Amino acid sequence: MTDMTPLLRERLERVRTGVASAASEAGRSASEITTIVVTKFHPAQLIRDLHSLGVRDFGENRHQEASEKANELSDLDLTWHFVGQIQGKKFRQVASYADVVHALDRIRLVDALGEWPGTLECFVQVNLTNDEARGGVRPDELLPLVEKVVEHPSLDLKGVMAVAPLGEEPRRAFARLRGYSDAVRQVVPHATSISAGMTQDYVEAIAEGATHLRIGTAITGKRPGTV
Ligand SMILES: *Cc1c(COP(=O)(O)O)cnc(C)c1O
Repeated sequence: MTDMTPLLRERLERVRTGVASAASEAGRSASEITTIVVTKFHPAQLIRDLHSLGVRDFGENRHQEASEKANELSDLDLTWHFVGQIQGKKFRQVASYADVVHALDRIRLVDALGEWPGTLECFVQVNLTNDEARGGVRPDELLPLVEKVVEHPSLDLKGVMAVAPLGEEPRRAFARLRGYSDAVRQVVPHATSISAGMTQDYVEAIAEGATHLRIGTAITGKRPGTV
């Protein structure tokens, strides 16, 4: 418990209420939705506080920072979600602490992670924009990538992941993602999860079937050093 705890409890409660009402609006059960709290740029203590409030799923997007926090918090029962791009040769290191990887988007990365001796849950990231630099596999390359993932017994494919594009109605973009999810399930029937929805658009993501929300600022507050 720290001075932050009451404020975090209040924000967490607000998001839980928002998730519950969006789920009920969509005719879904909130119990099928996992809220991952994205804690990038925040200190490890914030994760301890959130843990004391019952949060177990945490997301980070930068390897160096994530590995330091995972080390520092190894006494807690946490599920670590790596939600960022995995750079170059960092995949082994990421796999050493991450339980779930959300941004598999290229065959080389799949092959590299597939060598991991343990099991790694993963999502394939789909690019919902026309900008190749945004990360994620192009929709027309999604199924070949998925077929590559299932060749590796160490990779447990949970489903698809995406970030809503700027300048497009998020609900429309998430509707496309739901279509890609359906296509993936034709190939891998158990890959039913959809990782989508952030602070600004989680209601729309829930309306389009998201099962894993990645929420930062609505719970943690502004990232240190940002306005
Ligand atoms: C930072 C981040 C989030 C959370 O963003 P908020 O807008 O703070 O909720 C979600 N997904 C990814 C991939 C991120 O990098």
